[in-house]
Amino acid sequence: MNSAFITNLAYIISSVLFAFGLKFLGSPVSARRGNILSASGMFLAIVATLANGQIISFQWILIGIIIGASLGALVAFKAAMTQMPQMIALLHGCGALASVFVDWTAYHVNGAGDLTNTITLYLSIVIGGLTVTGSAIAWGKLSEKIPGKPILFAGQRLLNIALIASILILGILFLMHPARYDVFLIILGLSVLFGIFLVIPIGGADMPVVISVLNSYSGIVACTTGFVIHNTLLIVVGSLVGANGIILSIIMCKAMNRSITNVIFGAFGAVVKKKTDGQKKEAKAISVEDAFLILENAKSVVIIPGYGLAVAQAQHAVRELSEFLEKNGCDVKYAIHPVAGRMPGHMNVVLAEANIPYDQLMEMDAINPLMENVDVAIVIGANDVVNPAARHDKSSPIYGMPIINADKAKTVFVLKRSMATGFAGIENELFYDDNCRMIFGDAKQTVQALVAEFKNSQH
Ligand code: NDP
Repeated sequence: MNSAFITNLAYIISSVLFAFGLKFLGSPVSARRGNILSASGMFLAIVATLANGQIISFQWILIGIIIGASLGALVAFKAAMTQMPQMIALLHGCGALASVFVDWTAYHVNGAGDLTNTITLYLSIVIGGLTVTGSAIAWGKLSEKIPGKPILFAGQRLLNIALIASILILGILFLMHPARYDVFLIILGLSVLFGIFLVIPIGGADMPVVISVLNSYSGIVACTTGFVIHNTLLIVVGSLVGANGIILSIIMCKAMNRSITNVIFGAFGAVVKKKTDGQKKEAKAISVEDAFLILENAKSVVIIPGYGLAVAQAQHAVRELSEFLEKNGCDVKYAIHPVAGRMPGHMNVVLAEANIPYDQLMEMDAINPLMENVDVAIVIGANDVVNPAARHDKSSPIYGMPIINADKAKTVFVLKRSMATGFAGIENELFYDDNCRMIFGDAKQTVQALVAEFKNSQH
């Protein structure tokens, strides 16, 4: 058995581990196993690569590992759960940057190679270049380092078309003259620039889709880099990430009523904020004590978590509340909207932290038909994902986005600190409905106060 055979065998085992890892990540019950399998696959891949005798400098690799691992650990420990989306955006960017460096080095050392190689090299630096800056802008927008609203200027569309045309024309030139280092660098530079202009006009409400598209791009660029350096594992893993990203993008698009073609071709529009119509109804508030009396008599409760629950870190208190409700003979379910929070699966992660049983978590499509028979819907820190305007108001920026029909429940409690808008920056007509009562305050404190009422009632 030669060393190339052993390396390839290790790569195949790694690929299988990645594939099963991804499969297991599909459900909260098996997600931990999925993580362990994928991490083992990565470990095996790294060992096989280091051991295959083609390493030029172990010192530089060690320096890279030390710097990368320390920075990664520092950022991961420092980042709060609510900062995960921007961290993910940043990590996609880092992955794409690494691929671009590998492509550049391969070109610098070996040249572009035959036509197939030149095409994959070209695709790699274009997708990689725009993913690096696109991810950086997405990070900036999500972490509010740059304005979250769409940044628009005159001639923007024209500039984008000019950039795309230049990248395409220079691409043809590069395929005809692969040795032209200057053309290679200009294509890379224009792609990096294009990444900026692709993401700055996108409004905050579209950011989840952007993140998952960038995720897919980072996989595709890893795959094309695999072709450039003839590394089977990169090709397989890149395709897995690319395909997963596309599937996730489609799911997110459906959940937000965006068209996937719009996303892929970057034709995002600015989000138009809805004007209020002047004749305002009053939202009605309710005290914790009165809310408790209603909850005490409820036979079915659906808890609808949103971004505010994660901010308040109310998940443990929420579990306590649902345990009291269940002891009281009430059926408790959690309604999970696919884009609640600030990243895909955000609510699942937060609720899993508090060991809330998975069988109580219900997806939007499963819970909506049941909402009419629910005694109380408790909306905790959610806003956009329960806004009925999405169902009927054609002028609303979230029109068409499927929502959790909290308004259909017999009574709705909304736990939030004020009448402030959510991520999309629009008013929520649910708050003014006759069956809706606001419980103002930090979500964790409010839920804890409700728990205290249940405790007192038992003495
Ligand atoms: P929203 O962002 O619509 O609303 C969150 C609400 O939480 C706010 O209105 C805020 O009101 C309230 N809140 C904040 N802090 C607290 C607190 N400590 N206690 C109580 N309430 C609090 O959240 P949703 O989850 O409903 O919707 C998600 C939005 O984010 C969607 O528009 C989605 O498109 C977008 N998005 C989703 C991503 C994803 O992948 N899931 C990624 C990026 C964006 P107040 O200030 O009055 O308390």
